[in-house]
Amino acid sequence: MLIREFISETNKNKMISDLLKYYKVGSVKVKQKSMKDHAHYNVDTGTLELSTRYKTIKKRQVEDFLTTIIHEIYHAMDAKKYGWKKFKEMYEYEMNYQIAMGKDEYDDNKYEINAENFGKKNWKKWYNKFKKEGLF
Ligand SMILES: [Zn+2]
Repeated sequence: MLIREFISETNKNKMISDLLKYYKVGSVKVKQKSMKDHAHYNVDTGTLELSTRYKTIKKRQVEDFLTTIIHEIYHAMDAKKYGWKKFKEMYEYEMNYQIAMGKDEYDDNKYEINAENFGKKNWKKWYNKFKKEGLF
């Protein structure tokens, strides 16, 4: 039996492009960047950054990969909804508010909580869909 441990760059890119298309964040700026996380939404510049560090990913990293991408896409959806500059203001306001309340600017940040819940709620259905399509 052949165990394909690594997911090819092509299949990884297919997953990313399907997700961006589905969540209609095509109009949001996307930038490829070498970084530790799979994806990151840059609130300051309104850019969805995707990591070039992992050309391929391992099968056991798929859950983390999907959860992260979907979490960051949620920020991009917010940015699209309000306009990225407005969203930047809202996000900064929320950070300052949490700090003023003696709480954590990220962990208690409502935009982070919503994005995290969205990622956790949705990764599995995409996992099943992509698996069915033979992408990993
Ligand atoms: Zn986030």
